[in-house]
Amino acid sequence: MNARVNAISAINKIKPIKTTIPYKEENAINQFGDNVFSMSVMMKRLPKDIYKSLKKTVENYSTLDASVADVVANAMKDWAIGKGATHYAHVFFPLTGATAEKHDSFLVPDLSGNAIAEFSGKTLIQGEPDASSFPSGGLRQTFEARGYTAWDVTSPAYIMESPNGATLCIPTAFISWKGEALDKKTPILRSMQALNTQAQRILRLFGDTAGKIVSSTCGAEQEYFLIDKHFFSARPDLQAAGRTLFGAPSPKGQQFDDHYFGAITDRVLAFMFEVERELYRLGIPVKTRHNEVAPGQFEVAPVFETANLATDHQQLIMVTLKKIAKKHGMECLLHEKPFAGVNGSGKHCNYSFGNATQGNLLDPGETPHENAQFLVFCAAIIRGVHKYAKVLRAVIASAGNDHRLGANEAPPAIISIFLGDQLADVFEQIKNGGATCSKECGVMKIGVDALPDLPKDAGDRNRTSPFAFTGNRFEFRAVGSDQSVSGPLVAMNTIFAESIDYIATELENATAGDPSKLHTAVQDVMKKIIDKHGAVIFNGDNYAEAWQEEAAKRGLPNLKTTPEALPMLIEDDVIELFSKYNVLSKDEMHSRYDTYLEQYNLKVEVEAKTVAEMANTIVYPAAVRYQTELAEACLKMKQLGVEYEDTALTETAGLIKDLKAAIKTLEGLIAHESENALEEAITCCEQTLPAMLNIRTITDKLEGIVADDLWPLPTYQEMLFIR
Ligand code: ADP
Ligand code: MG
Repeated sequence: MNARVNAISAINKIKPIKTTIPYKEENAINQFGDNVFSMSVMMKRLPKDIYKSLKKTVENYSTLDASVADVVANAMKDWAIGKGATHYAHVFFPLTGATAEKHDSFLVPDLSGNAIAEFSGKTLIQGEPDASSFPSGGLRQTFEARGYTAWDVTSPAYIMESPNGATLCIPTAFISWKGEALDKKTPILRSMQALNTQAQRILRLFGDTAGKIVSSTCGAEQEYFLIDKHFFSARPDLQAAGRTLFGAPSPKGQQFDDHYFGAITDRVLAFMFEVERELYRLGIPVKTRHNEVAPGQFEVAPVFETANLATDHQQLIMVTLKKIAKKHGMECLLHEKPFAGVNGSGKHCNYSFGNATQGNLLDPGETPHENAQFLVFCAAIIRGVHKYAKVLRAVIASAGNDHRLGANEAPPAIISIFLGDQLADVFEQIKNGGATCSKECGVMKIGVDALPDLPKDAGDRNRTSPFAFTGNRFEFRAVGSDQSVSGPLVAMNTIFAESIDYIATELENATAGDPSKLHTAVQDVMKKIIDKHGAVIFNGDNYAEAWQEEAAKRGLPNLKTTPEALPMLIEDDVIELFSKYNVLSKDEMHSRYDTYLEQYNLKVEVEAKTVAEMANTIVYPAAVRYQTELAEACLKMKQLGVEYEDTALTETAGLIKDLKAAIKTLEGLIAHESENALEEAITCCEQTLPAMLNIRTITDKLEGIVADDLWPLPTYQEMLFIR
């Protein structure tokens, strides 16, 4: 009769999954990296000189020697076939944020009617998928659809297993035939290079001349929801939009704080174990798992890796969560706000940079010398976040994240930095003429010779800050759960490269090759930075109303929605920034702006159409049926001459009338077409979304009064609590 009732009875019949993995014999940790064509596999399988040449490329970003490709391809093929692979795929990351792959078989027919397996260096290095269907934001017309995938040597190939076959996957960059980036990987690689070039200059000033590559690192905490697939099938909004467009809050939500870090149920745990096992085999070091704040919400976090690899792995984590959830009869929701009224999901992007000689450069370190260098890098970050806050805001703008940012559980749209008491105090002292002491410990000077250690956990945590220092890294907490971490990482690498460039130039000029002048030069430049950019430091409660006013006084941008934030990507100074460091050209920036704007418009359009359709075909009929029931009861009572209380009927009839009117308004907006994408986005934001919300308010009221057995949509209570 009704999908909702069927769903509940089906879920009640679900039996716990029997252990299929003999976990005592097959320890998951021993399987780590089993499906990866890693450095150690290459060392075993490649001739020594080829291995060395490849290793150099991976470690130093030096240009790949094309002559090694054939040998590597052959070894890769033999290894993959040994693992049961029949196909290979160039995997790439288009601007939609998805993971794209085109599969080809190793099979080549020979003249005798048999077939052999073949995989040449050329096919390893370069692929040419028909790329016309991927958005390029005007970089390509459909008639010049050529796009190339180019092997990214720095991210290892791996085997993707499915129950009926295995595929060798090769991470690639996706570029147009003119060499323009059409993807999310290319700018990551370029921005890492930019950061390295500038960071080396600071390291040289502080005496580290070894030149070991400085790479940015990322550890992304992924939040997600799990709901039973029976509910998912009964909710067209979850299928089309990834979030509920209707649904009254359930009486019990997250107010008891009883889900966060709570005991994980067997069904969810079985899913998590399998996800982890799969990710271990792909060499992805997932480490942390726990229940999150909202009912039905969870988190998984890997150990951090270099930015490029972490980005690829992040995509694989999302793909794997979705895949394994289905296997366990559940659906994994990665949307930033699948359920109104309970916490949304983020992807906290922990960020740092370091090199082989010194390790993490954002670690305060053990010696005074490291301290000064740390403070210099820290100042670069403060300057970068202040100067380009609008860029950090723009790269996390999406239709989904708009529902989360500033919703009293996620940081607001104002980008500020949390330093913690001690570090904030140090910078305050620099501002006032030089640091002489640090809060808890002894004397502190920004000298190269006389600095005491900064303790690692120098301050408390601030869960409300969008950009928080957490002891040895920064945590960019405003990133959305469904987003690729590429955008945020590219932005951070580039912004900080620019700041480090600025500081390095100041220091180089001031010291003119005389290291004894470094001490004063560092003091001077730090003071300058903190005077000009200190306004971005905020250690208070970012959720508080007062901060909105305070931030406005400080002149910090507060870009509340995607249509406000995205245009920042094509402001002159931003285009200049990305061009200067060869990360993204003017055309590439415009293509990104166009694509993301289009994505936003499409998302809202699909949501609006779904709301109209569900309101018309699911909610309205249910409400009318209930109205008829009430009307019949009323009539019969009147026939019997019994006095009848008919407020329920009046209320239902009133809401039905409002509903029809609200649907009509929304349909008008859906029909409205605009020539200009930004104008359309503004209409979506200022008119379509409120019109959708208006319908929702009415249907949620109806949900509260219509007879339960007539209500067809699974409720919040059911979706969040029955599993
Ligand atoms: P939290 O307490 O913030 O929830 P988690 O343990 O869930 O912390 O996640 C912290 C993340 O930060 C992990 O992915 C961890 O590997 C990562 N991380 C630690 N050090 C660094 C670093 N130097 N660079 C980038 N990420 C880091
Ligand atoms: Mg965490």
